[in-house]
Amino acid sequence: MKILEGKCISDRIANEIEEEIRKKKNMPHIAVLGISGDKASDVYINKIKKNCDKYGIGFTLKIAETEEEFKKNFENIKNNEEITGVMFQQPLPKNLSNLINELPPEKDIEGIGERNLGKLFIGNKGAQIPCTSKAVIETLDYYGIDLTGKKVVIVGRSNIVGKPLIPQLLEKNATVTICHSKTANLKEETKQADVIIMAIGKAKFLKKDYIKQGAIILDVGINFENGKIVGDVDFEDIKDKASMCTPVPGGIGTVTNILLITNILKSV
Ligand code: NAP
Repeated sequence: MKILEGKCISDRIANEIEEEIRKKKNMPHIAVLGISGDKASDVYINKIKKNCDKYGIGFTLKIAETEEEFKKNFENIKNNEEITGVMFQQPLPKNLSNLINELPPEKDIEGIGERNLGKLFIGNKGAQIPCTSKAVIETLDYYGIDLTGKKVVIVGRSNIVGKPLIPQLLEKNATVTICHSKTANLKEETKQADVIIMAIGKAKFLKKDYIKQGAIILDVGINFENGKIVGDVDFEDIKDKASMCTPVPGGIGTVTNILLITNILKSV
């Protein structure tokens, strides 16, 4: 099985970023707003901070104890002209997540607001695209995986991964199926797939009996098991049956982190 490493992709994107930063007059400053700690999310936020520091991008983190405090932090950030981009640390209650729609779309650096997702779905250029979904597409492109006429099954229907992948995969002429926790017979769906994208947040969920011989698998999941980060795919179990798979860590997550910098640069 070929391992689809993310580092070579993120290195290439990093070179493009450095080139773009050299041309920029003003550097962005982002604010991350959260309400409580979540282990997987903390790992993600720490990586973002490290990347922002590396590229000279301003970074402000505001973690609130209560919803009221979160709303107050949001109002302050919204009216702060120095802040060019905003992201929310998930998970958040829907009423707080929806606040992102009060920002101009370019400030929604994760591309999860109504206007960015709307643009993406009707194929308009210029939308901020959710980075994790974009990382899946970059990985497919980098490794020359042509999706024309292929059956792609996405498992997980979140607004940041599963749903934004639908228009991007359709654009690549794939036939797209999206599954979730209420899918009647998941195995029946995944076994037909040429390409499976796992984004459910369940450690080592996908085993070899869920896939057909030669399937290509992209593992978005980040889970903690016995102090280690593992994906949604049981890598050891599928390795003799799949033809290609992204590793966790070192796969989609690596590409996602650097793609966020490209979205941040779009905010100024
Ligand atoms: P999420 O919002 O919790 O959504 C999970 C999705 O998985 C839901 O659609 C849920 O179905 C579905 N699901 C859960 N259990 C299932 C099962 N047994 N069978 C089929 N579907 C199932 O998750 P998310 O934010 O998209 O994140 C998914 C995973 O990706 C997590 O591990 C997260 O940490 C990781 N992640 C990684 C990156 C990265 O850069 N690599 C970035 C973001 C997230 P329902 O809709 O029916 O509930």
